[in-house]
Amino acid sequence: MGDGLVLGVDLGGTKLAVGVGDGAGGLRARRTLPTRPERGPEAIVADVVRLARSLARGRLLAAGVGCPGPLDLEAGRVLALPNLPGWEGFPLRDRLTEALGVPVVLANDATAGALGEYRFGAGRGCTDLIYLAVGTGIGGGIVAGGRLVSGGRGNAGEFGHLTLVPDGRPCACGRAGCLEAYASGPAIARLARERLGRRARGVTAAWVARRAAGGDPDALAVWGEAMDALARGIASLIHCLDPQLVVVGGGVAAAGPLMFDRLASLVSRYTMATFRDTAEVVPAALGAESALLGAMALAAGRGHP
Ligand SMILES: [Zn+2]
Repeated sequence: MGDGLVLGVDLGGTKLAVGVGDGAGGLRARRTLPTRPERGPEAIVADVVRLARSLARGRLLAAGVGCPGPLDLEAGRVLALPNLPGWEGFPLRDRLTEALGVPVVLANDATAGALGEYRFGAGRGCTDLIYLAVGTGIGGGIVAGGRLVSGGRGNAGEFGHLTLVPDGRPCACGRAGCLEAYASGPAIARLARERLGRRARGVTAAWVARRAAGGDPDALAVWGEAMDALARGIASLIHCLDPQLVVVGGGVAAAGPLMFDRLASLVSRYTMATFRDTAEVVPAALGAESALLGAMALAAGRGHP
């Protein structure tokens, strides 16, 4: 790669992260900004270009972008972003290629996260893992038989939209009863507002986690309900994909042991006997950088090991 750098972009519902590195797990520098999605996609393209210039200083070779789906990877377009209104049909790959002047690879953000953890993080040495990013939404990525699985159109792994409760809570995808409607950050905050009433005005999932860690019984009940939903979803995924490892990242996973201690026992309870305790549920080793490092690996042509 000489002294060239690759750019990684992780576009989330609340946060835009941009980093540069070698594409082999090294991160030279990174910056984050609030996404402020109401500004629309062109403002975000402008942010990426500005950060890319200041971080790469003319040494940029390629860029990889992890973006929430669903995407049309062949056309390089965003089809719809339930948590980012105004992006329907936006030609993100071509706009960034034009604005940055280098080749751009587009991927589902959680697929990029799965690749990052597989190549450089918790999944090193595995051949089969699933990755869940639990944050503003719930995204998923799959490595099966040592290969990144992206599906026919690039949208494999929409784990957040597993139907958990028939005709249950409304989901941002337009359906009802999805896992995401029970265990994403906004879903946890909403449940807390419903349960705790006025005490819980303006709460976030992190607030619920802090209160729960401090032993607040109401917060513990809300947190427990969300972890129960997440564990049921993970158990179904274990039945489908027989992974060696389940890696959980995203903002909600920052709760640490409060999440992983619960998940260990609940996932074990909800899996059928032949799958019980076959897949450990672990935190993302790369923390907030799984998708960023995965996107950089894609940019460096390391997407298909
Ligand atoms: Zn849904």
